[in-house]
Amino acid sequence: MHVARTLAALVATAPLLLAAQARAEDPPTKAERALHERLIVLDTHLDTPSNFSRPGWDILDRHTFAKDHTQVDYPRMVDGGLDGGFWVIFTDQGPLTGEGFLAARNHAFHRSVEIREMVAKHSKEFELAYTAADAERITKAGKRVVYQSMENSYPLGLDITLMDTFYDLGVRLMGPVHFGDNQFGDSATGQHPWHGLSPLGRQFVERANRLGIVIDASHASDDVLDQMIVQSKTPILLSHSGLKVANPHPRGIDDALLKRLAASGGVIQLYAVDAYIGSLPKAFFDEGDDIEKRWPVETTPANQLGARYEAEQALAAKYSGHADFETYMKLILHAIEVAGIDHVGLGADWDGGGGVNGYNDIDRIPMVTARLKRAGYSDEDVGKIMGGNVLRVLAQAEAYAKSVK
Ligand SMILES: [Zn+2]
Repeated sequence: MHVARTLAALVATAPLLLAAQARAEDPPTKAERALHERLIVLDTHLDTPSNFSRPGWDILDRHTFAKDHTQVDYPRMVDGGLDGGFWVIFTDQGPLTGEGFLAARNHAFHRSVEIREMVAKHSKEFELAYTAADAERITKAGKRVVYQSMENSYPLGLDITLMDTFYDLGVRLMGPVHFGDNQFGDSATGQHPWHGLSPLGRQFVERANRLGIVIDASHASDDVLDQMIVQSKTPILLSHSGLKVANPHPRGIDDALLKRLAASGGVIQLYAVDAYIGSLPKAFFDEGDDIEKRWPVETTPANQLGARYEAEQALAAKYSGHADFETYMKLILHAIEVAGIDHVGLGADWDGGGGVNGYNDIDRIPMVTARLKRAGYSDEDVGKIMGGNVLRVLAQAEAYAKSVK
């Protein structure tokens, strides 16, 4: 009786409660913004370092996406309450030759140095981070957090010990592949010659575990992700990936694989890439296959690969405009429902092709906090999505490395 009466009372007052709440599209309330500021907000895939060498471009200046197509700089990080994240050393996949490996290795070292130089130049605003605990210490000091990550480990060549060198430079998150298959295994968008990880790819997993590097399965094939879940001693992260439920693009994973990832403690950080989360016609995928056939990454000479990447960008641009902020929120909420609150986060692919209508700049991130609150999630839950889950995975990688030293 008592329960029934309480329920009846709740039902009666529910419309009143709803009327007092913000509507979905309303900007963050004061309380939601305050929560967002209190939380450690990290994005796990900031492609911004590719802008560092742009002539006249400085991260302390305010830019706009409309003007120069950049999405991350210090003023916008402050506006968006973005405390930092993983700043990417990205390398295009090239030929699997000694010459190709050498050029990639030099490129990756150079990019890591550029990240370190940016922080050194702006040491009042940014600080390099190496451990999970660093994030809280750095944000408490009023600075932005700079972890380094490697997108595509092609630069390691066949010398797995180079992982140690990049670890020493500060890299704490590494993904084996990008758009093409390579010496470590199959790409989601490749030809899958290895049926998962290669023998060197298995060494990669083992060494990452021993060093305390988090393994990033974004861009890897489903087989690679499955095999890494089984082999890795610590949880796998997908730094910027999506879900098949939104779009059949091979970069997304299906709900069954998402559940296996979550069961192993892993986390998916969701991208906001228009072409991968919007609903796309079959023609998009057919044209993508044509590009792959015309310029296979493994066999195309390095000086012609630029044409492939241009064609890919043109393809994405041609079919963009199918997704907006609502599409992205739906993806986040679905992932939480399937994987659980401890296994989802944000990796929108800022400065790397991310951004959808209504969510093209990092100053919009507080809207995600607002929408999660309005969907009924607790402050603690929102904190997990914004950065807590990633820091948990990083701490687990560190703890394992310590335990085997
Ligand atoms: Zn990527």
